[in-house]
Amino acid sequence: MKYRYPVVLTIAGSDSGGGAGIQADLKTFSALGCFGTSAITAITAQNTLGVRGIHSIPADMVRQQIEAVLEDLQPAAIKIGMIHTAELATTIAQALQGYQQIPIILDPVMVATSGARLIEETTVHTLRELLFPLATLITPNLDEAAVLYGQNIPDVAAMQTAALALTHNCNAVLLKGGHLKGEKVFDVLAQKEGSTEVFASPYIESSNVHGTGCTLSAAIAAYMAQGASLHEAIVMGRAFIANAIQYGSDVQTGRGNGPLNH
Ligand code: PLP
Repeated sequence: MKYRYPVVLTIAGSDSGGGAGIQADLKTFSALGCFGTSAITAITAQNTLGVRGIHSIPADMVRQQIEAVLEDLQPAAIKIGMIHTAELATTIAQALQGYQQIPIILDPVMVATSGARLIEETTVHTLRELLFPLATLITPNLDEAAVLYGQNIPDVAAMQTAALALTHNCNAVLLKGGHLKGEKVFDVLAQKEGSTEVFASPYIESSNVHGTGCTLSAAIAAYMAQGASLHEAIVMGRAFIANAIQYGSDVQTGRGNGPLNH
């Protein structure tokens, strides 16, 4: 008897430095026992020191990649990452119509740790209008949530208010508070029906955190592909990230912001 691994599709950008984007997603899927497939939205020339160039893939080619995977490999979950242009966001929303049964984890990637913009300003509106409503979960960090919410988010109470407000046009929001430096890291899950939950874990000091956001959303997608509920997938995804930060803190890769190791 043949058996199959759960298939996961990532729709995201390539990081030539191997730390974030498609490369992080595929490594995460493999590490978690899934078969990873990809639709590449952009190619970035980058390393651990920063992003040097961004080349968007033509929208029709992105659509073809998504259709080729959906029609044959039947992914059990989809992760969406870097989308540079509004045209790409529109095309991806169209390509995913009719696949509402597949959980979609959307990481609204905007700015790299190095400060490089990974999204055009006008894309944010299209992302929110066309792709957020298709997502099972969106996973903004504090900076991304502040752009979407339109206000600064200085503490955990404000995170809860902002996350709830953002469920206005999506099913659920995991607002990642890792950039609020303290003894603990707080992430807030808000669901459309009005509930919020705060997850807390010890803050782990490491300079190897490039690609953390990509990896978390990929891990949540992988766990959901294996049948976990959204809540279970978030709990296991956070634990996976904590381990990757903990065990990767002594590794030297490149001369800048080192990648997660998993
Ligand atoms: N490059 C690509 C292609 C990405 O998708 C992302 C992330 O989300 C990044 C870079 C940024 O990664 P980080 O903010 O962890 O440096």
